[in-house]
Amino acid sequence: MGASTLLLTGNIDTIAQMSCNPAIGGQAKGQMVREIDALGGEMAINTDLTAIQFRLLNESKGPAVRSPRAQCDKKAYQFRLKHTLELQKNLQIFQATVTGLIYKNGRVVGCQTNLDIEFMGHTVVVTTGTFLRGLMHVGQNKNEGGRLGDFSAKTLSASLIEAGIELQRLKTGTPPRLLGRSINFTGLQEQKGDAKPTLFAFHDTRDPEDLFHVEQTGERRLGWSPGSEQVSCWMTYTTPASEKIVRDNLHKSAMYSGEIEGIGPRYCPSIEDKFVRFADKPRHLLFLEPEGRSTNEYYINGLSTSLPFDVQLDLVHSIPGLEQAVLLRPAYAVEYDFAPPTQLFPSLESRKAENLFLAGQINGTSGYEEAAAQGLIAGVNAVLKVRGEAPLIIQRHEGYIGVLIDDLVTKGTIEPYRMFTSRAEHRLLFNHGSAELRLIEHSKPHKLLSDSRISNISHKLSRVHYWQNYLENTRSGAGIWAEGIRRDKEIAILPSELNTETPEIREEVLYRVIYAGYLDRELRQVEKLKHVEKIRIPLEINYAAIPGMRRESALKLAQFRPQNLGQASRISGVNPADISILMIQIAAQRRAAEQS
Ligand SMILES: Cc1cc2nc3c(=O)[nH]c(=O)nc-3n(C[C@H](O)[C@H](O)[C@H](O)COP(=O)(O)OP(=O)(O)OC[C@H]3O[C@@H](n4cnc5c(N)ncnc54)[C@H](O)[C@@H]3O)c2cc1C
Repeated sequence: MGASTLLLTGNIDTIAQMSCNPAIGGQAKGQMVREIDALGGEMAINTDLTAIQFRLLNESKGPAVRSPRAQCDKKAYQFRLKHTLELQKNLQIFQATVTGLIYKNGRVVGCQTNLDIEFMGHTVVVTTGTFLRGLMHVGQNKNEGGRLGDFSAKTLSASLIEAGIELQRLKTGTPPRLLGRSINFTGLQEQKGDAKPTLFAFHDTRDPEDLFHVEQTGERRLGWSPGSEQVSCWMTYTTPASEKIVRDNLHKSAMYSGEIEGIGPRYCPSIEDKFVRFADKPRHLLFLEPEGRSTNEYYINGLSTSLPFDVQLDLVHSIPGLEQAVLLRPAYAVEYDFAPPTQLFPSLESRKAENLFLAGQINGTSGYEEAAAQGLIAGVNAVLKVRGEAPLIIQRHEGYIGVLIDDLVTKGTIEPYRMFTSRAEHRLLFNHGSAELRLIEHSKPHKLLSDSRISNISHKLSRVHYWQNYLENTRSGAGIWAEGIRRDKEIAILPSELNTETPEIREEVLYRVIYAGYLDRELRQVEKLKHVEKIRIPLEINYAAIPGMRRESALKLAQFRPQNLGQASRISGVNPADISILMIQIAAQRRAAEQS
C-alpha cells in the first residue's frame, strides 16, 4: 500500500517459522488461503513454491467444500518468506524484542524494546502469537518460551493491561518429532500427493515474474514447477498399549494434572484428550509427515501431548512402525496470554487504545491461516487509519475472512478458534476458485494487487459473466445449454469456444451454472440480511434504558457495543425479540433527532 512500515521481531531467523506441522490449508483454511492471495497476501504463493506434497481434501464432495492442503518444506517456507520481506519496498525489518507500548492521551504512539531503542509510529499492529508470557510444559517440567528454543515476551502483557486490555490464558500443544531413519515404514500405509496438484495461488492472473521472484532469480531450474517432486506421508495407528500408557499416566500430563490453567484447542485435541473424550474409539489415526526435503525429521500428526518425556517415549514405541523410533524433539504444551477479541472493532483496532491493532493468535485463534488473514486485514486497516480512510471490512457473505473476524469481534472465544466450513452460513458462495472474483471489490480500491493482476481478474470475471449469460440464454439443439448441463451433469458437451477458455474460467462457469438454484437462493438470503447490516447503532445508545429489553441482552450489548444491527443479532445471549426492540428504539431515536 506504499506505507512506510517497520517489522520488529525477536528473531529475524524465525520469521514465518511454523510452530507446529508445516502444513497449510485443509478444510475451510484452504479457501481462506486463496482469499489471502486474492487480497495480496504472500501465504499462497509461498506455499506453492515450497510445498513438498499437495492434496485436495473432500474431492468427492461438492466443489464449495473442496479444500486444498499442502505439506511444506519447513525451512524453505521460512527462508523464502524472509527473503520476500527483505525485498519488499517500504518495509524495514529489525531484530528487537518489544518490551512495552508507548501511549499518549489514550493512543499508542510507538514501542519500547529490550535494546532500549524506542520506535515511534502512527499505528502499531501487535502479533505476538504464543509468546506473551509463554510457558511450555513437558509433564511437570516447565520452561518459559513461546515455542521450543524461543523466548517468552514477559513485559508486554503489562503494557497491554495498562491500556485497559483484558488478558486471559489459552494453551496449545504439539507432537514429538522423530528421526526418519529410525522409522520402520514396512507395513505402513503410504499417502502420496495428488498427481495433479491443486495450487493455492491464482497463477492464471499473475505475471510470470511474480511467481519466481525470490527462489529462482537468475538461473531458473528448467522443468521445475510447483508440485513437482512430491514426497509421501505415511499412516499408522495407536494401539491398545498406547491407550494403556496414556491412561496410566494421565495424572502426570500437564493438562490433566491441573498444571495448565489455559483452555486447549477442542478441534486439535491432545492424545490424552482423544483417549478420554472419545473412549469408544479403539484406535486413533496418525500421519507421519516429513518436515522437508533436506531433513530427516518427521512430524507425528495426531500425537500432540503434554505427558512427561519418558512416557512420550513409551507411547511412541507402542505404535506400529515406531517401535525403535528416535525422538528429536519432545511433544509439549504451551500456554500464553491472549486478549479476548470482543475488545476489538471489526477493523481489528483495539477499542481500548486508539491506533493499536491486534492480529493472530493473540486474538484467541489457532492456525497459520487464521493468523495470516487477520494480519493482512489489520495491516491494511493500520494504513487506512493513518490516511483517515474507512476501514476494510470483509462481510460474512464475502468470504471466510469475513466470518472469522466477525465471529471473533462479536462472539469472542473461550478456546483456540479455528475456521470450519460449518461456521460460514453462506459457504456455498465460498468455493476456493472464486476468491479473487469475490474480493476484487476490495483488492482494487485499496491497491492490494498490481494493476496488471487487477486487470486480469476483471477480464476473468467478465468472461465468467459472459459464459454464464450465454449458457443460461442460448439454445443448443435440444434446449437451453444451462438446463442440459444441470439435468445431465454432463459437462463433456460444452460449446466448443468455452473449451478454449482457461480451466479456471471453465470451472467457475460450470460451478455457477450447475449450482445456480442453490447459489441464487443463497444470494437472495444475503440481500435480505444486508439491510440489517446497514442499520447503524448510535454510539451513545443506553441499552439499560431501552423499554422492554431483557437485562441479559442489554448487558451483552453494552459490553460488545456492536456497530450495526447485524452484528448485534450475532452476539450470543441476545435474542431476536430484543433485536426487534432495539430496531424500534433506533428508529425512534432517529425520528426524534430529525424533529429536533
Ligand atoms: C506448540 C504449538 C503448537 C501449535 N499447533 C498448531 C496446529 O496444530 N495447527 C495450527 O493450525 N496451528 C498450530 N499452532 C498455532 C500456530 O503456530 C499459530 O496459530 C500461528 O503461528 C500464529 O501466528 P501468529 O503470527 O499469531 O504468531 P506466531 O507464528 O507465534 O509468531 C509470533 C512472532 O512474534 C514474535 N514476537 C512475539 N513477541 C514478541 C515481542 N515482544 N517482540 C518482538 N517479537 C515478538 C515471535 O518471535 C514470532 O516470530 C501451534 C502453535 C504452537 C506454539
